[in-house]
Amino acid sequence: MLSDDIAAAMGGSIDRAGVARLLRAEGTGREQLYAAARGVRDRMFGKKVFTYGFVYFSTHCKNNCSFCYYRRSNTGLERYRKTTEEIVQLAANLKDAGINMADLTMGEDPQMYANGFDGLLKIISAVRDEVGIPIMASPGAMPKGMFPRLREAGADWFACYQETYDRELFSRMRLEQSFEDRMNQKIWSMDAGLLAEDGMMVGLGETAESRADTILTMGNLGCQQIRAMTFVPQTGTPMETVTPMNSDNELNAIAVMRLLFPDRLIPASLDVEGIAGLRTRLDAGANVITSIVPPDKNLAGVAQHELDIGNGNRSVEHVLGLLDDMGYRPGTDAEFRSFMDSWRRSCRA
Ligand code: SF4
Repeated sequence: MLSDDIAAAMGGSIDRAGVARLLRAEGTGREQLYAAARGVRDRMFGKKVFTYGFVYFSTHCKNNCSFCYYRRSNTGLERYRKTTEEIVQLAANLKDAGINMADLTMGEDPQMYANGFDGLLKIISAVRDEVGIPIMASPGAMPKGMFPRLREAGADWFACYQETYDRELFSRMRLEQSFEDRMNQKIWSMDAGLLAEDGMMVGLGETAESRADTILTMGNLGCQQIRAMTFVPQTGTPMETVTPMNSDNELNAIAVMRLLFPDRLIPASLDVEGIAGLRTRLDAGANVITSIVPPDKNLAGVAQHELDIGNGNRSVEHVLGLLDDMGYRPGTDAEFRSFMDSWRRSCRA
C-alpha cells in the first residue's frame, strides 16, 4: 500500500525499495503523495516561499558534460562573461525587488579559475560589500583549500550538483570528472561553514532505485538544499536526440525529498518548464523558487537557456504576482537569514 510507504517515509522507517515505490507513484497514489508532502511543507515552513535570482555570469566552461548546452565541444554558440560591475548591478536589482538570494553561477571558466580563483573571489566580495544580499556560489568543482576563502569572500551557500550517485551513470554524464571529488564538494563546503546544495537530474535513463539512492545520499550528506530537475535535451550535445520525459518523475522526487527530509529547502526551478511548471512543483512540496531571471539583461538559463526570459515571465514581478495568486507569500530577508543562521548553528563548522 502506498499509504504505508508514505507513513514509513514520514516516520523515518522507509527502506530503499519503499522510496523507489513512492518515486513510481501514479494516479491517486501520486495525489496522496503530493498531499502528504504539502502538509509536511506547510507544517515546517507555513506558506512562505523563498526566492532566488539567477545570475549566470559566465557561460564559458572547460568541461564536457554530455547533457549540457555549454559543454566545451558545443562550439557553435555565443558565450558571454559579465563584468563585475554588471554582476553587482544585477544583484542589487534582485535585492531591491525583495529576492532572498543571488545565485552567482558560472561554467568552469578558466579565466575565473586563474590565479587562485582571483576573478571569482573578487566578484563575490564585490557583491557582498556593495549589495549585501545573501550569496550562493555555483562555480563548479573547487580544490578543498578554496572553500574557507570562498566563505571569507562572502559566499553563504555553495551549490554543486552531482546529478546522480550512480557511479556508472555519472561517468557517462560528467565526462572526465571525479565522482569522489564532486561528492566531496558538498562536505568541504559545509566543513568551511557554507551551506550546501546538491541536485539530481531526472530522465537520464536511470531507474527509480537509482533515483532513490541519489535522494538518500543527497539528504544524508546533510545538504541544506536538495533539488531535482528533469533533463531537457540540448542541441549540439551527444544527448540532443534523447526523448524528453514529462515532469512527473521530477514532481515525485520533490515530494519524496520533502517527506524524507522535511526541514530542507527544496526548489521549484523555473528552468525546466518555465512559469507553467511553478504551481505543480509547489503543490509537490517545494518551498523555494529558483532561476528567477530578469529580462533584457542578456542572461541565460541552464536547462532552458531562453525559456520565459525574454518575455519577462521569469522576472521578479511576474513570479511574485503568481505566488500571491497561488496562496503563498515570499519569505522575507529576515526569515531567510534566520533559516541560514539556524542551520549554521547545527552545521559541522
Ligand atoms: S554542466 Fe557545468 S561543468 Fe558541465 S559542461 Fe555544463 S557548465 Fe560545464
